[in-house]
Amino acid sequence: MAKQPMLKFVTVERDMPEKRDASARKQDFNEIYAEFAKAKAEEQASRCSQCGVPYCQSHCPLHNNIPDWLRLTATGRLEEAYGISQATNTFPEICGRICPQDRLCEGNCVIEQSGHETVTIGAVEKYITDTAWEEGWVKPIVPAQERPESVGIIGAGPGGLAAADRLRRAGVQVTVYDTHDRAGGLLTYGIPGFKLEKDVVMRRNDQLEQGGVTFRLNCEVGKDISFAEIREAHDAVIIATGVYKSRDLQGPGAGAAGIVKAIDYLTASNRLSFGDTVPEFESGELNAEGKKVVVIGGGDTAMDCVRTAIRQGAESVKCLYRRDRANMPGSQRETKNAEEEGVEFVWLSAPKGFSGNPVSGVMVQKMRLGQPDASGRQSPEVIEGADYVEEADLVIKALGFEPEDLPTLWEQPDLEVTRWGTIKAAFTTGATDMDGVYAVGDIVRGASLVVWAIKDGRDCADAILERFGANAAVAAE
Ligand SMILES: Cc1cc2nc3c(=O)[nH]c(=O)nc-3n(C[C@H](O)[C@H](O)[C@H](O)COP(=O)(O)OP(=O)(O)OC[C@H]3O[C@@H](n4cnc5c(N)ncnc54)[C@H](O)[C@@H]3O)c2cc1C
Ligand code: SF4
Repeated sequence: MAKQPMLKFVTVERDMPEKRDASARKQDFNEIYAEFAKAKAEEQASRCSQCGVPYCQSHCPLHNNIPDWLRLTATGRLEEAYGISQATNTFPEICGRICPQDRLCEGNCVIEQSGHETVTIGAVEKYITDTAWEEGWVKPIVPAQERPESVGIIGAGPGGLAAADRLRRAGVQVTVYDTHDRAGGLLTYGIPGFKLEKDVVMRRNDQLEQGGVTFRLNCEVGKDISFAEIREAHDAVIIATGVYKSRDLQGPGAGAAGIVKAIDYLTASNRLSFGDTVPEFESGELNAEGKKVVVIGGGDTAMDCVRTAIRQGAESVKCLYRRDRANMPGSQRETKNAEEEGVEFVWLSAPKGFSGNPVSGVMVQKMRLGQPDASGRQSPEVIEGADYVEEADLVIKALGFEPEDLPTLWEQPDLEVTRWGTIKAAFTTGATDMDGVYAVGDIVRGASLVVWAIKDGRDCADAILERFGANAAVAAE
């Protein structure tokens, strides 16, 4: 009888790829996890219990066929595993690195509920596609036939690029417009290299360009070209611009020098990783070296800022958040990584104002968690008389992002938005009320996740292919 290759969770413990020691990883912006060795990936994949109703799959936004690619990995059939993995995910090696797996696939792994730790789904997904790149299994985009229709995509983030990939594979003429000089959106200029190394993103950009996608970079729609011109030039348009308006701080001294936006800080740091000259870094404005840094916020952006400041050689790095650890929106994994690297978290604390110009301190109000509000979340309440000053000579605001007012900026009053300012678009297709205009990713969902942007981009591409009378299955080949 053939040996059972799976269900090893009873005898094999969960193991992640090796994590670099905090003292070493603080010295650079390289990823902190090493790659699985082949034997380790096979061993870890073999822990999957192959359940009949895989909750991991249903909780993955892309409904990745996780049990199948785990079984194929465990049995050494890696090229087939890659085939299945890439059939549902345009950028599996990126999701494997930066999805918050604890909230998605791994958070719903059944073996955890039986007292064993989850299968390392994300790490295996990354391993499969990194190996596929090394082995040359990742094929260039070569459409079987060219189609006459063209699509203009505004925004080269994961949402726009996932749509571009799928449309181009079906032979559609695709032009992607982006403000930045490099494609990738937040994958390139938001998320730091220690979570996602830049060559992983650039490799995908190159693949798209070599496959015939036209990039018009350094091109801001609404300034360098109008939305109306793009609509005129293409048979369909996808808006994939993300959300970039930073939520601001109020209070006395909020406009002082030395109080900066997270997105500016992270963009400058990512640009340095590409070897670019960044005047705001050279001048010290966006450089944490030797400074007492206070980051305000408790989400993933705040986590990326504190860990970047550590790597820039800050004297101290503190993260101020108005709720407690259990109620922070950021990933627990990244918080733990930040703590290991020397970040101090100051829970239940909110800024009331700032002293000095340039800034020298944050006036902090201490909070307690009160009654749950309508959403069920406990609201923070001020503890009177407990204020104090936290010394700071660089304050980074990481309070979240809101959408730009696109109907006004683009002179498109017919472009309908929700009361949050996000674009109103059909859930499964991204279609807006304007004929031939679609929207995907954060500009529809509000600040969300890469995997959801990819899902939207793929779904939208399929809807456009249907509109063109093209076969979406071709795009999957
Ligand atoms: C610091 C940070 C860390 C994050 N970490 C994670 C993480 O670990 N895991 C995760 O899943 N998600 C993470 N996210 C969220 C994730 O990055 C986003 O949900 C995702 O990138 C959204 O994709 P998108 O394609 O909708 O938009 P974006 O990635 O924002 O791309 C939009 C693109 O549109 C361009 N653009 C905007 N306006 C115009 C215009 N007028 N003309 C031309 N181009 C324009 C922008 O330049 C940009 O390139 C993080 C976000 C931030 C800010
Ligand atoms: S795409 Fe994200 S949620 Fe889906 S299997 Fe991969 S890591 Fe998990």
